[in-house]
Formats: sequence, C-alpha cells, structure tokens
Amino acid sequence: MSEISTSPITIEQVRADFPILSREVNGRSLVYFDNAATSQKPRYVLNAIEDYYKKINANVHRGVHHLSQRATDEYEEAREAVKRFINAKSIKEINFTKGTTESINLVAHSFGRKFIGKGDEIIISTLEHHSNIVPWQILCEEVGATLKIIPVNEKGEIDIDAYENLLSEKTKLVSIVYISNSLGTINPVNAIIEKAHEVGAKVLLDGAQAIPHQAVNVQALDCDFLAFSSHKMCGPTGMGILYGKENILEEMLPYQAGGEMIKEVTFEKTTYNALPFKFEAGTPNIAGGIALMAAIEYLEKVGWEFIENQEQMLLDYATQQLSNIEGLRIVGTAENKASVVSFLLGDHHPYDVGVILDQLGIAVRTGHHCCQPLMKRLGIEGTCRASFTFYNTKEEIDALVKGVERANRMLS
Ligand code: PMP
Repeated sequence: MSEISTSPITIEQVRADFPILSREVNGRSLVYFDNAATSQKPRYVLNAIEDYYKKINANVHRGVHHLSQRATDEYEEAREAVKRFINAKSIKEINFTKGTTESINLVAHSFGRKFIGKGDEIIISTLEHHSNIVPWQILCEEVGATLKIIPVNEKGEIDIDAYENLLSEKTKLVSIVYISNSLGTINPVNAIIEKAHEVGAKVLLDGAQAIPHQAVNVQALDCDFLAFSSHKMCGPTGMGILYGKENILEEMLPYQAGGEMIKEVTFEKTTYNALPFKFEAGTPNIAGGIALMAAIEYLEKVGWEFIENQEQMLLDYATQQLSNIEGLRIVGTAENKASVVSFLLGDHHPYDVGVILDQLGIAVRTGHHCCQPLMKRLGIEGTCRASFTFYNTKEEIDALVKGVERANRMLS
C-alpha cells in the first residue's frame, strides 16, 4: 500500500500511476477514450500480479504447504475486499466468475433453469448489451418463457410507465443494465427494483459500467443479483463477480461441476460445497482475484469524490465542445448520464472517423457496441463512442475535438 499516496490526489499523480498513459501511438501521445471497453491498469495492480507469480504462486483451498496457504489467504481476502466494496452482507454472496458475461450466464443457468418455466416472463430493456439479451433468449427457448422488452425514447431513456405495464405476477426476473455502455444512460434502478419486488420478481443488475464510476451499495439497492467485470475497474481481464443474495444462491442449481464445488463425491451421490464455492468449479483465477483486490484498494484510495468530479467535468466539457462541431450529433442525451459520449459525424461512417482518430493516437470505439437491438431502435448502424474515466483530462478532450474536426474536413 505504500505505493498509494494518502495525501489529496491530483490528476498528475493519478496519471503517473498508469504506465501506459505515457506511451505514444502513431507518433502521438496516447489519448485513451475506450474505457467502457476496458480500463487501463495502474502500477499497483500490475505489481500485484507480478508479486503473486514471483512470490506466492500455488493452488488455493487444497494445500497444507506455506505457499498454498498464502495464496488461499490472499484470494479469500479479495473476496472480503469485494464484499466491502459493494457492501454485501456476507462473503457467501460473492462468487468469482470470469466476467459480467459469465455472471449473467450463471444466473440464467442456475436460477433460470430452476425458477423460470413455461408461461413465465423475463423483462429486459432495449438498452441491453448482448450479454444481457442472448442468455435470456436461450433460456426462454429452452423453458418456454417469454422475453419482454422495455422500450426507450429518442434520448436513450427507458420508458418507466411501459415497464410498469409489462410487470405482472408472470414476471420472474427483471435483468437490466445499470449504466448503458453505448449511450451512458443511468437507469433509475431504485424504482425498477422496487416495482419488480412488488410483483415478486427478482432483479439482476448488469453493473459492468456502473461499478467503475460510482459507489454501488447492494444492500441499499436491494438488488437480488449484481454482475460486473474486474477489467473495467482497473483490474485484470478474466475476472468477474456475481453478487447474489445468500438465500437465493442457496436455492440455485450448481453452475459448472468439478473440483472445489463439491463437498463429497461418491459414484452413488455427490453433495455440493457451501457458498461461495458451490459456484466455483476448478482452479480459479488466483492472480486475477488478488489483482482485483489491488484494483479495489486503488479505487478506494483515489476516492469516489475525485472520480465522480473528474468524470462529470469531462462529460460536461466533451458534450459542450463536441456539440459545437458542425454536423456532429450526439446519440444518447439522457438527463441522467455517465461519462460516455456517442456521436455521429454527418453521414460519415463511424469506422472512418475512428480510423482517422487512431492515426492521431486517439482511441475510441466504433460500431454497435454489442447493442445491435438498441442501434436498430435508434435507426442507426453504430456510433463513435468516446468513454472517459478519472485519469482522462480536458486537454485530451481538446485533442479529440481537433481530431473530429480534422476527420470532418478529410471525409467531406
Ligand atoms: N454489460 C455491459 C453494460 C458492458 O459494457 C459489458 C462489456 N462491454 C458487458 C456487459 C460484458 O462484459 P464482459 O465482456 O467483461 O463480460
């Protein structure tokens, strides 16, 4: 922890923590605006990975030897860190997966196949990422349930009245994105959860984009499940989290089967391990867990105040500056928005704009952002998306604006 300063943090100090931010791309200083796809990693996280492999590497939960015990202790400490980070009641509610996608699939498999049947309904919204659409389509096809979709308006906000009309005693699950990765819309999740609970439905929040940008408190939200990925919150790839309320997880079917998730195996009958190990078959991503803990410690040290202020400033400034560009249209103008600006530049293809920006060292994402149904609803094929985080600066937005203006000239 000594590497993390405890004095008030400046943007210069924050940027110095991320080695990649000082590299060049195509002969220009890197401007990294693809944070919604994955965030960069601070040295503190990189060191945690290296230290683990250099000094501890051993398998967990099985060895009596020193290294195995050290690895187990640190890996389980990571679970404690996640519990603290999202204010879960118990470590039994923290299941490690490989990412948001696997967490959602776990619920579809283990909750869905037990508790959702013929004639039941699942509600999602038009804003969803494919990973919160396809698992439910597969489940519905298999069990004979129906998928209902909450519509969105032109601004990219969900229609809460339409949502209420979709709810009924047939609704078994509402699975909804907290913050949209493609437009930045922040959904009114408190109201969504409350309304779902009134009809007895459970709620899964896709927290992939929410977790890196604001404090998420699962007890205050009262969500039944929360899925998120380490790699979007300064941690490593291949590591994810499924939070679930303990009483629900207890009742669910196992997900994958093998070592770790069993209590006793005989050829006649196998009994399953207690939570959280019941859902964690096989050797886990040990380094990933330990580095995720480092990412949490890092974010806690930077602090939500710094993160939220910086991101709000970047969102406001980028929205204002980009709006001044002739022919530029911002897609997604929700009242309540996170630090994502999706845009179209005249009739130019987003890909062409992205390529020109890349030549200037500016990384943005172009395309449908894994939200094809949303793009269809908005009548477009895709957008250019600049997604900001707390280590980005106003100067980088100036570079983006200049880059977009240049693209406008070159493509016209
Ligand atoms: N949901 C949302 C809102 C996302 O932004 C993403 C990642 N783009 C995912 C789900 C899937 O996350 P992962 O690829 O880490 O499993």
